[in-house]
Amino acid sequence: MKRRSFIKIGGYSGLALGIVPQWAFNIQEEEYSILELMGKADIELFGKGINLRKEAHDAFLKMKRAAYSDGIDIKMISSYRSFERQMAIWERKYITYTDDGMQPLDAIDKIIEYSTVPGTSRHHWGTDIDIVDGYRKVEGDVLVPEKFGAGGPYELFKTWMDENSTEFGYHLVYTNEPKRKGFKYEPWHYSYAPLSVPLLDTFRSKNIAMVLQKEEFEGTEHFTAGFLRNYIINNILDINPELL
Ligand SMILES: [Zn+2]
Repeated sequence: MKRRSFIKIGGYSGLALGIVPQWAFNIQEEEYSILELMGKADIELFGKGINLRKEAHDAFLKMKRAAYSDGIDIKMISSYRSFERQMAIWERKYITYTDDGMQPLDAIDKIIEYSTVPGTSRHHWGTDIDIVDGYRKVEGDVLVPEKFGAGGPYELFKTWMDENSTEFGYHLVYTNEPKRKGFKYEPWHYSYAPLSVPLLDTFRSKNIAMVLQKEEFEGTEHFTAGFLRNYIINNILDINPELL
């Protein structure tokens, strides 16, 4: 992986700590690349079964230890996902739905209730995770919103995350705010804000819609400029405001 350089602020200048705002320490001289944003770059990932960027990995372990001492076993269901992997998920759904007789645009609308267009998943960034409580025995699919609600097996887990996750930099992305558009409520999907906020900033500064129109996977022939514009506004940007 390409090493990133950070703006160095002289620690001996006497000015540094008092006057320079905290964010100045995090400004990057170099932006993330389009390939990196789209899950097409070979980024360095850390931790067996964790697979996150270094800082996100370290914060995840701290959070996991803290939760463990409160009787919750944070279990990783999904973290980094490549473009190829997201494309396989997308195409499997697209083919299933259209084979069932759905019109292509309806199939796409149904896929994007929960799944992203390949190249636009936050899971491409190495900062986002889908997690549950490994202590709980659960029948069938685990990533089901009801299982995180009152009386569900992950109720305590969700309460713990609500109270503690931001202390470790992790924020819920797809909240149950009723006015929010885009992806449905995902009580399992958290993002490591110190890295994902600048990644999203870079994403917004690039013309991803144009890049996507050139992709060739199942359904891309139905990606109009209008569809992509709405998708980016609703599905990519209508998220927890703490992550913008
Ligand atoms: Zn997710």
